Amino acid sequence: MTLRGAPVGFVSTRSPTAQPVSFEQAMLRGLAPDGGLYLPTALPEVRGEEWLSANSPAEVAAAVLPSLVGLGRDEVHEVFADAIDFPVPVVELPRSRFVLELFHGPTAAFKDVGARSMARLMDRVLARSGRRVTILVATSGDTGGAVADAFAGSVHASVAVLYPAGRISDVQERQLVAKRPGVTTFAVDGSFDDCQRLVKEAFADPDLARSGLSTANSINVARLLPQIVYYLWAERRLVDLTGERRPFTVVVPSGNLGNLTAGVMATRLGLSAATLVAAHNANDYLVRYLDGRSGAFEFSASVETLSNAMDVGAPSNFERLNALAGSGSGPVVRALAVDDDATTARMAASVREDGYLPCPHTAVGLEVVERWRARVGGDREEPVLALATAHPAKFPDVVRLAIGSEPPEHVGLAALDRAERAVVPLKSSLAALRSALLDLASA
Ligand SMILES: *Cc1c(COP(=O)(O)O)cnc(C)c1O
Repeated sequence: MTLRGAPVGFVSTRSPTAQPVSFEQAMLRGLAPDGGLYLPTALPEVRGEEWLSANSPAEVAAAVLPSLVGLGRDEVHEVFADAIDFPVPVVELPRSRFVLELFHGPTAAFKDVGARSMARLMDRVLARSGRRVTILVATSGDTGGAVADAFAGSVHASVAVLYPAGRISDVQERQLVAKRPGVTTFAVDGSFDDCQRLVKEAFADPDLARSGLSTANSINVARLLPQIVYYLWAERRLVDLTGERRPFTVVVPSGNLGNLTAGVMATRLGLSAATLVAAHNANDYLVRYLDGRSGAFEFSASVETLSNAMDVGAPSNFERLNALAGSGSGPVVRALAVDDDATTARMAASVREDGYLPCPHTAVGLEVVERWRARVGGDREEPVLALATAHPAKFPDVVRLAIGSEPPEHVGLAALDRAERAVVPLKSSLAALRSALLDLASA
């Protein structure tokens, strides 16, 4: 048992009995030195389920996160009130279906929540030690925009984003190249794999290591912990909407499985979800694994789909999910996969039947809601909470394909469209990246 407020330590999934490191060390390192992922050694005892009477996600965070992130209640509240300064509503659809909309942040995807919270946590931590870091990310789409936006204007961290020039969608590119203070966006003459390789090489480079490089991808535990908050917030809203507290099922559109892992952790803090169902597209590793059709870590190459933020063949958080599953009682975790035709068909059906237009990722989730209910039969009225991970305006081509008309506007995206642009072309070589990063570190 952990005393309230005493800081929790973090250990690697690959060395669970090693000496724990602090949250600060786990956040700055990202990946553990042995190649594993950090997990807290314990989750706090949350007294009296205080989060059930919270009036905002920031109040939920203040009730459950202080000992995990090593900050006081008031500091946690300040961090999260500033990070989640947009609505996180639960929308009720017919037949006891509820949608948790996580896309009202500046880049219109749920990654804003984790990235913005992490950026503010990092500023607090670095302010104490007086250190400066450069966050280096390779992106094929959503992550880079969310991270760049989250860290823009940070006092202690600057950001370098690498993306494959000419190989991402228009909407995504406009989000990445919007000019932001402290953010440098490099258009790399190469593929996404080249960008990822450059990032790996940069972390292995001794000169760059000394200049203070860090990461903000979804393996970072500082992006994961904030995601617990919205699961608990959703239950708090469900109780308001339905007038009772009862078990429910959560459906999570999944790729790297960070979101699902945060949901499993939320159940250990009191979330009443008895079952979490991962909703996948054709990249169905977890489905095959849970069916016993493939062994642990028998990953495959990713395939392209219409829900491209979930096109992940080797989910990086699988190792964490596996470690959590092995550490005592937890919720039932299941997975179902939906192909592109069923995705667009669900987008159209959702508009027709419910007057609700989901993005393609959310549509994969809503289709899984139907298939899951058909499979389990039983209590049709048990509430299902589906996570909505992006706004449809991010995927105008898929929306046109599915329903033949344009998505509604998202204010944040519209603002990014009008923003001034700044982008630096970069040759796909470590030498070119090294000199660009060292220039940034000395600027
Ligand atoms: C990143 C992303 C996902 C997948 O989330 P994971 O935490 O990687 O499983 C789903 N939908 C959207 C819109 C995303 O951007």
